[in-house]
This record gives sequence, C-alpha cells and structure tokens, in this order.
Amino acid sequence: MLKQQQQSKVLLVDDEASVLKALGRVLLYEDYHVVKASCPAEALEVVKNQSFDVIIADYRMPIMNGVTFLREARRFQPFSCNFILSGDADTDDVIECMNDDVAERFLRKPWDNKRIVEEVNAGVRKRDKAHLLSQILANESSGKMPPPVGEYSGNNLAQSHDVLQHLKSANFDNEFSLVYQPKVCAKTGRIVGLESLLRWNSPIAGVIAPDVFIPIAEEGSVINDIGEWVLNETARFQMRWRSFTLSDGFRLAFNVSPKQLLDGCFVDKVKALIDSGDLIPEYTCIEITESAAIDDFERCCTQLTRLSDLGIQVAIDDFGTGHTAINYLLKLPAHVVKLDRSLIQGVESEEKSYNVVKNVVAMAQSIGMKVVAEGIEIAQHALCLKNMGCEELQGYHYSRPLTEEQLLKVLAQQPFKV
Ligand code: C2E
Ligand code: CA
Repeated sequence: MLKQQQQSKVLLVDDEASVLKALGRVLLYEDYHVVKASCPAEALEVVKNQSFDVIIADYRMPIMNGVTFLREARRFQPFSCNFILSGDADTDDVIECMNDDVAERFLRKPWDNKRIVEEVNAGVRKRDKAHLLSQILANESSGKMPPPVGEYSGNNLAQSHDVLQHLKSANFDNEFSLVYQPKVCAKTGRIVGLESLLRWNSPIAGVIAPDVFIPIAEEGSVINDIGEWVLNETARFQMRWRSFTLSDGFRLAFNVSPKQLLDGCFVDKVKALIDSGDLIPEYTCIEITESAAIDDFERCCTQLTRLSDLGIQVAIDDFGTGHTAINYLLKLPAHVVKLDRSLIQGVESEEKSYNVVKNVVAMAQSIGMKVVAEGIEIAQHALCLKNMGCEELQGYHYSRPLTEEQLLKVLAQQPFKV
C-alpha cells in the first residue's frame, strides 16, 4: 500500500445502509479514510467543509439523484475525482453527466470489489498528480520547491491560487467550451433565446465550475482574455447556427463579467465584430451580473449605453441576489431583468414568496423591462411565473445547458408545454 493512499479520503453517498457498510468495509481494508453519507443533503454539508480525493455517489436516491448531487459537489470540490455507481441509472442522464465531465466513471451495480479499489486508486493517483503539478506551477516564480505529494493543504486560498495559475497557462481552445441553455417563451413554449455558458476542463485540475473560476479570474486580468474568447466563440456560434439564431425575436446571450465591462477595450471588441459582420447585434444579448452596477455605477452605465446603442440587448442578471436596489433598475440602460433562481424557489408553495415575485415582475414591466425567470425547475414554477406575466422561462425543467449536438435534439422537441 502506498503512503499517499493511506492518507486519501473517500466520500460514499448512498441511501442504502447495506451498500455503505459493504463499500466502506472494502475501502477501509485498503486503508482509505472513509466518510459515509446516507443522503445527498448530508453529503453536501460534508463536502462544503472537508476535501476528498474521491466521491462515490449512488444514482438513485430520493430528492436528489447522484448526477445532480455530483454537479453540486463539483462546485465545492473542483479537484476531486468522482464516480457514479448504479444498477439502473437513466442512460441519457449518465451520458450527459459524462459529456459534461461531472463524473469520470460510471460503474454499474452490482460491482466487483477489485474493480472499485482499482478505480479509487486511479482517482487518487490522478489527484496527486494534479496537486503536484499545481504546486510546481504555483512555486515557479518564487523559486520554491514543491512540497512532497500528500502534503497539499487543499485550503481555499491555496486552491484559488492554483486555479489562477492554471487559468494563466490554459490553452483556451483546447480546454474551454461553451454550452447553451434555452430560454422558453412563456406563451408559446418555443425557444426564443439561448444563453452561452462557459465550461473549463483543465488537463491538470479537471473540471472546474464557472462560478468557482470566474470570480478567481476576475481578481486578475485573465478575465479579459477569457471574456474575449467567450465573445468570439459566441459570435462564431451565432454564424454557424444562423438559420436558427438570426430568426425574428431570437436573442443569443452571453455573460459578461463586471470587470470586463469596465475594461475600456471590451465594447471596442464587440463593435469590431459587428463592423466586420461577425456578430449581429439585433440578435444578441449580454447578461451582466447586477453587482457590476454597484461597483462603478457611472462607468457601468456608460458602457451599457454604448452596447445598447450598437443594438445589443442588455440584461441584468441574477436580480434578487441582493446587490441591486430596485431604483438602480430605473437608471440602468437595460432592457431585460433576469430573476435569480433563489427568488423562484418557493413561489409554488409560499404565498409570501409568490407575492414578492409577482410584484417584482410587475415593477420591472412597469418601467418597460422584459422579465426572464431563471431556475425554473418544476412545472409549478413555470405555471406561477407564466400567470404573473413573466415573458421568458429558463431552467432545468425545460433544459440543462446543452452541447451543440444535444441542442439539435432539443430543438426538435419544442414547443415545450408551459
Ligand atoms: P448565471 O449567469 O446566473 O447562469 C445560470 C447558472 O444556473 C448556470 O450555471 C446554469 O447551469 C444554472 N442553472 C440554469 N438553470 C438552472 C436550474 O433550473 N436550477 C439550477 N439549480 N441551476 C440552474 P453555470 O453554467 O455553472 O454558471 C454559473 C455562473 O458562472 C453563471 O451564472 C455566470 O455568472 C458565470 N458564467 C458562466 N459562463 C460565463 C461566461 O462565459 N462569462 C462570465 N463572465 N461568467 C460566466
Ligand atoms: Ca447569466
């Protein structure tokens, strides 16, 4: 048994006590430090506070399945290697999960103990290599030697530093990709927009979620390079899919980091693409998170006005997360407000929540803004928001973010039932 394997931690998530017991015994025998959780909620609490080398989750669990759990867990454990185990997982879900690099392995139940141990060992080796390389990168400039394998602290500050180093050395074309999440018209059930969302698969650190690496990138100038890559790729997608993306009323949206917006060159780059005919502004939307508006309000307004004057639709993202006071909406040169998914949770069951959202929708519309609701996860969410007069709906109830190949299939399935 290798020394680093003795120090490695494995999280087991399964609602069947007998499975936890059996699997735990096999891994304990191999000297792993095993932590068990009998449901995804319990496991998420654990992953927020402890780091693991390998996470093994069952597919079929009540409330949240293994794929959803692993997607969530990834946000807290970008360096973990994940596995899904199941006897009867939904094949499409598993394929999507592997395509999105949420999980590295799918092991069908009943599993063979030897195979489990081999896979866990492989996951640990991969993580050790990633951490060693990240330490080398982090210490290159200071001339320090990397610490021995197994002594990596894994604390948040060190991880942020690693992520920034990986980003700086990343080959964007090889490591980045865009996925596209539909926005559905509440009246017709047809797809009237797509939002491009960035994915990063680092050969060193694995898959890292955008809400982990974007805030880190914003600390340095690398966010501008990332933003430029997203802008160019989104424009290319618009042209590749022009028969769909350049149809009446359709908008292809992409996210712009506040810092990027405030960088003087960004709007010039957008304008250059428009001037060369590579981006059609009337069919484009930029989503800017509301916190940007607060940091440097005047400059933010100037840049948004320039974009708006070019014909691009401006959407204020994540509305309701607490950064923007309602009176900012009055002053911002924006056309659309996107309600954050935290506002949507509970509209179907809590009267207060329903009334608040209803009033926000009415308020935004009264000042001429269009309302898009994010985080529509169930049919009741869609129905409530439609009844409130919200124009567009977006969320897992309709579709997750899709690769271009998956998008083809989903387009054939519309209109959706609202
Ligand atoms: P966002 O712009 O608010 O994007 C929505 C996020 O919510 C996406 O996560 C999406 O996958 C997720 N989502 C959509 N529908 C649902 C749902 O029904 N339920 C739940 N639980 N989640 C849903 P993702 O792709 O991980 O992106 C996270 C954030 O990262 C984005 O939040 C955005 O702020 C940032 N981001 C993503 N791509 C880019 C980019 O190209 N540039 C910049 N600057 N930021 C980006
Ligand atoms: Ca967005």
